[in-house]
Amino acid sequence: MSAQIIDGKKIAERFRADLATKVALCPKQPKLAVILAGNDEASKIYVRNKKKAAEEIGMACEVFNFPEDVEENEIIALLGKLNEDASVHGIIVQLPLPKHLNEHRILESVKTEKDVDAFKQFMSGALWQNNAPWASATPRGVMYLLKTVTSDLSGKYAVVIGCSNIVGKPMAAMLLNEECTVTMTHIKTQNLPEILRMADIVISACGCPKLIKKDWIKKGAIVLDVGITRVDGRLCGDVDFDEVKEVAGFITPVPGGVGPMTIVMLLQNTYDACLKQMASL
Ligand code: NAD
Repeated sequence: MSAQIIDGKKIAERFRADLATKVALCPKQPKLAVILAGNDEASKIYVRNKKKAAEEIGMACEVFNFPEDVEENEIIALLGKLNEDASVHGIIVQLPLPKHLNEHRILESVKTEKDVDAFKQFMSGALWQNNAPWASATPRGVMYLLKTVTSDLSGKYAVVIGCSNIVGKPMAAMLLNEECTVTMTHIKTQNLPEILRMADIVISACGCPKLIKKDWIKKGAIVLDVGITRVDGRLCGDVDFDEVKEVAGFITPVPGGVGPMTIVMLLQNTYDACLKQMASL
């Protein structure tokens, strides 16, 4: 029997509609500020999409553009102003930054209460202590999709492929917080297929197109594919979808799986930040 496809596009649309209703009822209009430095074409598209998505659900979004040769202190000075601006609830710095900039120093200059990407060290630590106000958008979106197909994660064996600070590590922390038994794997992991064969839940975020094969997956497992790589002009996931769907219980496609959830979860984080800031006044 073939796996049930998790339709991330449809789920994200429903989520967005619910969030738009909440935003309309919110006493303050949530506002997201986006810092975009340099000329990275993909970053410009991501930022345009974030602004469009925010405005479509009634949120405000302001983009601050800086040239490629911007000085670090100029960005940090703007962050200082946005941190103190009560009309701004969420701040993100689009990555990657131009190479001469110190990414760590810039990300750490965002006020924690407004860190809606949750890239600061504090937010990462808080997530591992199961005490974070929100998680990074992509793993939060994956967790939401996962919960649409299984209500009880406790005791399940989950394997995460890839351990970056923005996807793999927060994903593993979130699964642990749900009482899963979690294995984190990475480029140096030995016997990845053997490890995966034991998993009830597989979450892949390694950016290796079609790495994961049918005979690596336990029958009925839930497979969520975060990976996005452009191959011959088309987007491709880490999972060999056509063959893995024959054994998995549930599977996300690429595109149309995890991807559509990411922006809506960034907006949800901004809404959450707005509520928290209102409550602390
Ligand atoms: P990264 O390059 O920072 O990290 C990749 C991780 O995968 C590393 O930990 C590395 O050790 C591991 N890895 C690489 N090759 C591997 C292999 N053969 N076996 C096991 N592990 C391996 O990447 P990232 O920023 O975490 O992104 C990962 C993927 O997710 C990329 O394809 C990226 O485009 C995609 N992504 C998608 C979304 C989304 O919204 N859907 C968001 C963020 C990232």
